[in-house]
Amino acid sequence: MSWPDSIHAGETEQPEPLVRRVLAPNPSPYTYTGTQTWIVGAGKDVAVIDPGPDDAAHIDAILRAVGEARVKAILCTHTHRDHSPGSRPLAVRTGAPIMGCAPLVLADDGPRADAAFDPLYAPDHVMGDGETVAGDGWTLEAVATPGHTSNHLCFALLESGALFTGDHVMKWSTSVVSPPDGNMGDYMASLKKLYEREQDRVYYPAHGPAAENPHQLVRGMMGHRKAREKQILKLLTEAGPVAVPAMVDVMYKGLDPRLHGAAERSVLAHLFDLEQRGEALRSAAATDQGEAAWMPA
Ligand SMILES: [Zn+2]
Repeated sequence: MSWPDSIHAGETEQPEPLVRRVLAPNPSPYTYTGTQTWIVGAGKDVAVIDPGPDDAAHIDAILRAVGEARVKAILCTHTHRDHSPGSRPLAVRTGAPIMGCAPLVLADDGPRADAAFDPLYAPDHVMGDGETVAGDGWTLEAVATPGHTSNHLCFALLESGALFTGDHVMKWSTSVVSPPDGNMGDYMASLKKLYEREQDRVYYPAHGPAAENPHQLVRGMMGHRKAREKQILKLLTEAGPVAVPAMVDVMYKGLDPRLHGAAERSVLAHLFDLEQRGEALRSAAATDQGEAAWMPA
């Protein structure tokens, strides 16, 4: 399979007969080369997975790739702004229903990265775990994978063994897990869920190259998170009470400063998970900056 690392925004590439990708023009430290919109189907109708940002040139590029086929379903893996806003102009221009993940409900008033969310996302139909949608020669099954966000879904293409993994598992980077909507315990459970699936031959993530050794990749991700957890417990034991920014400085040496905030969110997600499991505690003493400090339970 050919997998050029550098297709340009607006270009289409076809890694296998039923699957095409179109790259959106939104590269960044969080999106890598940009969001990849996946078009599934080669017959009279297709599904579009993760239409991406609301960007007129990108919607045009998707419709050029779709050509004469009918768009039968617009599927969203989750409601981050680089994934779902394009669903609305695409629905207007094709008449297709928006399906897939649930709209996001943020009930709590804790710290959150809600600038990343698409509050206008309005699905015509929310797909449950195991639910399928089918068209001419293709069947896509929703695989509930909460963790990166609480509403995250992957989609399995039953005809070919491809799994569209959204932001749950990517080869270029680990997934950001940002509380309160992102949940490390859920994320680990969703990694295990993919690890136990025998049927997946290749992963097509929303950002970056395909993964042709999915089990190896997921095992590596699980190991990485376990190693982070160990590192955190060691830090708490040796240096606690300690605040999150100071932990990131120690744990992520050489990190792109633009990603410091995201790394802090992931460390916090680990700490909440450890707290829930009775292995970490928030110290009553705050640091100079007023940050909560953490110590071993
Ligand atoms: Zn995301």
